[in-house]
Amino acid sequence: MTLPSLTSVGHDELTRWLAARGHARFRSDQVWGWLLRGVGFEAMDGVPKTLRDELAAAFRMSSLTLEKEVVADQGLTTKMLYGLDGGYSVEAVVMRYPSRITLCISSQVGCPIGCPFCATGQGPFGRNLRSHEIVEQALDADRRLAAEGRRLSHVVFMGMGEPLNNYQAVVDSVRQMADPDLLGISPRRMVISTSGLVPGIGRLLGEGLSATLAISLHAARNDLRDVLVPVNRKYPLEELIPAAREFAVVTGRRVSYEWVLLAGVNDTDRDADELLELIDTHQSHINVIPFNPVDGSPYRAPSRKRVMEFAARVRKGGLNVTVRDTRGRDGDAACGQLRARSLATVPLEVTL
Ligand code: SAH
Ligand code: SF4
Repeated sequence: MTLPSLTSVGHDELTRWLAARGHARFRSDQVWGWLLRGVGFEAMDGVPKTLRDELAAAFRMSSLTLEKEVVADQGLTTKMLYGLDGGYSVEAVVMRYPSRITLCISSQVGCPIGCPFCATGQGPFGRNLRSHEIVEQALDADRRLAAEGRRLSHVVFMGMGEPLNNYQAVVDSVRQMADPDLLGISPRRMVISTSGLVPGIGRLLGEGLSATLAISLHAARNDLRDVLVPVNRKYPLEELIPAAREFAVVTGRRVSYEWVLLAGVNDTDRDADELLELIDTHQSHINVIPFNPVDGSPYRAPSRKRVMEFAARVRKGGLNVTVRDTRGRDGDAACGQLRARSLATVPLEVTL
């Protein structure tokens, strides 16, 4: 039988568990403090040996096991591959910037949406992550960063999976990561990226969480989006765009629209003009991401020139546009499996 991790149990439950065994409240705070610092039971200074043994017999420190770690971009980017219960693996990517550190996090093993250009979508779907498995990715990142004297400041749900397809666990994980007793990261510093599950967007609005919403748009006409983001057949643009707009109006926050540029597919002037036609210039931001090539994929990245022309046309039409560089460190909008690909093509330093 696998033991529950301390994060899955929670601080309050740990307090009750300890109280039931006659331990004082301060023991719970002490153990929790060591957990946050990633100190294993055997090394928990100040906690009596008998209690450490009791804890070790009942709990695990984390349900994730680090399977692989890859460092790139001269140490600015670290990708971790974690093993989960049941034999699955997911990845998370730490991206260091001068003024912030962003973790790109996974919410599912694989992804059932099946976008044809996406490595995750082309693989088999495994399972949903539980909220503590999402939180533990962030906890682990924060502990590693503590060793560098830094803290995790931002979280983007842009790793493996469709977050709104694992709704409750994702929302619970946002609340847990925001809890000052765990990481204290404001939801304003978290981005939930979705392929466009319209009911989930409405539900998220009702949570009052103030997380940023990113919509993976990639096409501004239904016939093309039906192919690139197959869930569009269920929730077409005429439903998705009003839902995103409502999110922006009610929260007062800009919605990000992701546009992965695929050569000859969605990078033409016509595509740019359709995008301008579809999206309000107010309360929106376009992230143009040059396609990061995936082995065996029929899709290709456009030339740098075409990327810049596309972005310039959209900007000229009045939209806020950022071009993300998937190869360098400016990869906020394109991590997860994409980073995996890009990291695999640059000189690597592999540990473990
Ligand atoms: N499933 C969610 C979040 C994870 S994907 C979503 O689709 O929004 C995060 C972003 O990476 C999405 O915008 C996705 O379209 C993009 N992406 C996927 N594969 C890519 C690739 N090969 N190159 C560049 N961006 C990619
Ligand atoms: Fe899933 Fe997002 Fe990849 Fe589409 S792009 S298959 S929604 S992870």
